[in-house]
Amino acid sequence: MSTNKPMPVPTEISAPFWEGLKAGRVSIPRCNSCGHWIFYPRRHCDKCWSHDVAWHDVSGEGSLYTYTLTRIPTLPDFADEMPQALAVVELDEGVRINTTLIGLAEDEIRVGMRLKPVFERVRDDGTTLLRFTGIDKTIDLSPADEVAAEPAPAAPSVTKVPVSDEAAMRALVSETFTAWSNEVVVDQALIDEFARLSGDDYWIHTDPDKARKMGPFGGTIAHGALVQVLQSRMKIPLGFEVTGFTNMVNYGSDRLRFPSPVPAGARIQARARVKSVEKMKSGTQLILEVHTHVVGAERPSVINDLVILYM
Ligand SMILES: [Zn+2]
Repeated sequence: MSTNKPMPVPTEISAPFWEGLKAGRVSIPRCNSCGHWIFYPRRHCDKCWSHDVAWHDVSGEGSLYTYTLTRIPTLPDFADEMPQALAVVELDEGVRINTTLIGLAEDEIRVGMRLKPVFERVRDDGTTLLRFTGIDKTIDLSPADEVAAEPAPAAPSVTKVPVSDEAAMRALVSETFTAWSNEVVVDQALIDEFARLSGDDYWIHTDPDKARKMGPFGGTIAHGALVQVLQSRMKIPLGFEVTGFTNMVNYGSDRLRFPSPVPAGARIQARARVKSVEKMKSGTQLILEVHTHVVGAERPSVINDLVILYM
């Protein structure tokens, strides 16, 4: 989970709600004078204005009042949750809560469907968010399962190729790209960090408001150089490993292009092919053509012909 998502800031009035969630309870205030349930938490009853209100635990069960599926992150930090099912749930007590639905396929979601609460702990300090899922669903949010939920990529079979075997080295050259790497989220926090590091803090990268109003892309975009260096975070299933060399030198790039932008919040992934293998005086030079794309985009965002020298 992104570490930059906004978190609830409990106030004196709302604290019992957040404390309840930490303990796996849905707790909401009720008016002692007229019996009206109150949400969001307030000092007074919004029906009879009495200040005589008290907290009560409720089942948390309710019905889906309305929802929407967001396919563009509402904030870049939510890119890893797309699509998000933003929902208004009406508890059986009659109050409505803004929340997100989890553990439901898009075609399972129906206005009016019965829902139950899910307590998702999102911070080591116990901070817990209230989600909802179908009444008959089982959701286990223990950390081990969260990790397991992301299917581990099948370990690709890796062929060892001795650098001295010229024919085998040349046989690596291919017109076909590998399968895709893992995905990496390029969020605004990462872009800001790179802006500080590189000194390139041009507003198209760092000022979401101005970029939304004046920029050609409807928001901020990542630096091309940032997307380029993020190659290190993407494990490309090459399918081979060169062996038998003393030194492997990154000799730079034969070609570096940024054909299309990466909007803040986008997920990127990379694939590659061996473009050429050449025997040189100093060793064997391999050019790896790496293409980085926004996930689902036809056009690459970065094309980098990496020159690797095996000595
Ligand atoms: Zn009242």
